[in-house]
Amino acid sequence: MDDFNILCTDLLSVDRVFQLTDWFGKASGSKLNKEKTKAQFYGPWKNSEKRGLQFQVTQEEQKILGVKFDTNCEGKTNWTEITQKVKQRLGFWTMRNLTIEGKILIVKAVILPVFLLISSVFIPPMRVFLELQRDIFYFICDSKWERLKREIMTKPKEKGGKGVPDLYLFLGSFYISTHFKQAMDIFNNPKTNSINRFWFGSYLRKLKLLKSDFKKPVAFNLPPAYAFIQKFLQHFKLEGEEIGILTNHRFIISVVQDREPATPVRGLLRGDATTVWPNVGHPVLTNRLQDLSWMVAHEILPVRAVMHSRGMSATSICPRPGCGAPESVRHLLWECSAARDLWAEAGSLQFPYLPAREVLDLQLVLYGVSHQKMEKKDFAEMWLTLATIKDAIWTSRNLLVSRCRQIPPWL
Ligand SMILES: [Zn+2]
Repeated sequence: MDDFNILCTDLLSVDRVFQLTDWFGKASGSKLNKEKTKAQFYGPWKNSEKRGLQFQVTQEEQKILGVKFDTNCEGKTNWTEITQKVKQRLGFWTMRNLTIEGKILIVKAVILPVFLLISSVFIPPMRVFLELQRDIFYFICDSKWERLKREIMTKPKEKGGKGVPDLYLFLGSFYISTHFKQAMDIFNNPKTNSINRFWFGSYLRKLKLLKSDFKKPVAFNLPPAYAFIQKFLQHFKLEGEEIGILTNHRFIISVVQDREPATPVRGLLRGDATTVWPNVGHPVLTNRLQDLSWMVAHEILPVRAVMHSRGMSATSICPRPGCGAPESVRHLLWECSAARDLWAEAGSLQFPYLPAREVLDLQLVLYGVSHQKMEKKDFAEMWLTLATIKDAIWTSRNLLVSRCRQIPPWL
């Protein structure tokens, strides 16, 4: 026998465990090594009781199925290791040259799974949430300069965000859905279910998810593990949701995200933002082009006027020789003479998917909104062409700034 954890409620049960293991040993030929056996006391025990055992009593934390339980049973010792692991993985992926889209995928596929086991048992303290969420944002933004508010970054793509996981919402939903599943006995484990309903029952009754039953005992004060659930549901205004939602963490996250309003697009003159954001994340665009279109719509592409207004560039003037105008996103992609020349040349002759010159205007180029109705397929081809040309303008501008090389984007 190796690596066993046995939970006992009194000293009598401890004796009984020894009797049973001896009895089992007689049949199997195995023997319990008492020198290697350790006991840990949780809760109010008398010192005389603690001394009565035949083996070592320890104050160290216990690791049960990969989860550490400290003497206060708050699970606080789990987070140092997890924080280190997350930092290490983020550090490793920082060295790759990834797009924002690519980095978000890494966070979802590589970082979030690190938490899943522990956070189905313990919820991290706020300090850990804040530290790790900050690390994730630094990783995605490539620096300490966060171009947009985090609340916008975490919105879903069709509302102007990038769908960056909100750690508190994600881990909280995962944790509470596990407890609601236990309360509804979805795992079909009657013992867990009974304990859960005893501690959690008063709140479940208040939420009208459980009928009052005076024959069954119920605790009136929520212990910290369940008090978190109440706090979480109140914070996200989820107390009225159905049990079908509360038992699935994905549904909980979508309920919260669906309530978010679409972020307005400042430069938009016609149509509304709800048409712009789906264009920005259009599946026809590669990750790089999605990032570019998204930064254009938020006006956070690091052109000089944007950088200057945040004190990160000495000048706000366009780097094209002889231009002299402030370099805004609109200037770079439409108003600058270099861009104008390009758009003048770019007709349906060179680019068969572009519309006639008269139709091509700033709103169509920047946001993909047009007066004309278009077939979905035609729009996709036109939008990809426009995004590729914008990327060429931006790349040519960056070459000009970084290597002082003047390369017209149309060559
Ligand atoms: Zn210019």
